[in-house]
This record gives sequence, C-alpha cells and structure tokens, in this order.
Amino acid sequence: MLTERGFISRLRQSAAGAGPALLRGIGDDCAVFAPAADRSLLVTTDTLVEGVHFDCRWHPPELLGRKAASVNLSDIAAMGGEPKYALLSLALPGDTDEGWLELFMGGLLGALGEQKTNLIGGDTVRSDRLTFSVTLIGSAAPDRILYRTGARPGDLVWASGYLGEAAAGLDLCRLADARKENWPELVKAHLDPRPRVALGLFLAASGIVHAMMDLSDGLATDLAHLCVESSCGAVVSADLLPLSPALRAVASHLGRSPVEYALTGGEDYELLFTTAPGVRGSLPGLVRAATGLDIHCLGEIVAGSGVRLLQDGEKREIAYHGYDHFGR
Ligand SMILES: [Mg+2]
Repeated sequence: MLTERGFISRLRQSAAGAGPALLRGIGDDCAVFAPAADRSLLVTTDTLVEGVHFDCRWHPPELLGRKAASVNLSDIAAMGGEPKYALLSLALPGDTDEGWLELFMGGLLGALGEQKTNLIGGDTVRSDRLTFSVTLIGSAAPDRILYRTGARPGDLVWASGYLGEAAAGLDLCRLADARKENWPELVKAHLDPRPRVALGLFLAASGIVHAMMDLSDGLATDLAHLCVESSCGAVVSADLLPLSPALRAVASHLGRSPVEYALTGGEDYELLFTTAPGVRGSLPGLVRAATGLDIHCLGEIVAGSGVRLLQDGEKREIAYHGYDHFGR
C-alpha cells in the first residue's frame, strides 16, 4: 500500500503550490493559512465508504479520486464560493494496492487542481473498509454567499444540466454487463460528476439568485430541503424537466420512468437555484455565454409548503422521495 511517507510527499507537492496565503502546509501539527480580509470562510466535509457510496468493481481508482474531490467542490459551488484548500483522510485495508492508490491520488489531485485547490493536510489509518473523507475550505465575499433560505413565492426554480443521469448510470454499472458501453455519458455522470464551481461563482456575482444548493440526493428531496429552509413550497412541471435523449433511452430499456429518474435520482451535482421571474427569457443565454452550461427553468416557488409535480394536468406531492442515507 501507499506508504505514509508517499502520502506525505503527495501532500507536500500539492501544498507547495498553494501560494503565500498558506503559511504552513505540512510538516507541523496543523496547516496554517491566512484568510483574506473581507472574505468569509466556507467549510464542508463529505465521506465516501466502499459498499455504501462506491463500488470498486466498476469505479476506476482515478475517477473515484476525482469524485471524492468533486462532491466536496460541489458543496462550495452550491454556496457561490471559491474552493481553496482540501484535507484528506484515508482509511485503508491492509491489502490496498499501491498502484491503485497512486491512481486514486492522481485523480483527486487532478480534480482539485482544475479548481485551483490545494491539498494541504491529511491522515491515513488502517480500516477493514476503504473510506475517503475530504474536507474542503473555500471563501466568498460575505454579501455574495447564496444560502438555501432566500427563496420566496413567485420565484422561478432552475437547475443546471440534465437530471437523473448519474442514477441511470449507476443502474447501468450494476447490470455488470456490456450494456453500459452503449451510454457512456450516463456512466460518466455517475463515475465522474463535474462540480459547477464556475457556474456557482457566476450566479453569486450576478446578484439575481435568491437561494441555491447542489443536487446530491435527487430533485424531489433537495428542493424539499430548500423549501423547508425558505418556508415556502414549490411546483415543478414534468414537461420542463431536462431529460437527455440518453436518459430517455436507458429508462425505456430498463422499464423505468425518465421523470422518476430526474425526480429521485441522486448524485447529479448540478446546481438548483431560484430567481425572480423577470429573468426567465434572458438568464439561460447569459449563463451559456459565461460558462458554456445550460440551465433550465423547472417551475416556481409558491406560498405554503411541500413540493408538487404538475404532470398531465394533475398535481401530486413528491417531497422526500429521494435517497435516504439511513436506508428507509
Ligand atoms: Mg450539498
């Protein structure tokens, strides 16, 4: 397995590029950095456990390393923040292959590097289950941070990208046969999600977003969280859900509903946000010009509570249909 010395050497390399604000990256009991004046710090942590969050039978180590970074980068993006520093705790079984771990670390450092984020500390322990815990530190101007609490009745509800692709990609991986090769974009959405850091920064700077979060547990559940935090409800329209041709094809192949994938599928790591209604026509073009990404209006925020889906002229409650970490 990767020796502790090897791990520390990777940390040293990453920390060395972090710039003068990092006063001590490694070699002491703590990393030390000087937060910039007039910036707030954002801190988040997320843990991936083998058999719960990933499966090494189909998750290549490099993409797993990327994902361990990306799910945390996504939480910084969700606040409109700029990621800066990362810490990594590795819990490794004694028989972990050194080459596998090198690839994992390469993926993790690659995904962090794409967002100008440096690994500045970490720890390795022995465990009977492979577990990665990443802590990410970001920063933002205090008056630009986007919380889940700002949505108000009349707001439009938006999401970036396509929905449900990661969940469909995971189902393809679970088939354990060659069918997944027919829909590589869905498999990639599960194995290597892209954190929307640039989009989060653009939206935070725009001043037009009222509330924002990232989509990790599925639209139905995540929008319900945003509504609870903002003391409001939402209505989304099935006709407005961004369903890719590939998702429609896989849903049909597996006998599943593409709308259900979009509502309940977790791990899309797209951004979910609300704005005043006046920007409905103009915002997609502005976002596309600035970030190259597509956003879609899904519905609106309403007074009251709950999340309802408008489909075929009928409304039904869909809150809390997503993934539940405690295995309901
Ligand atoms: Mg989140």
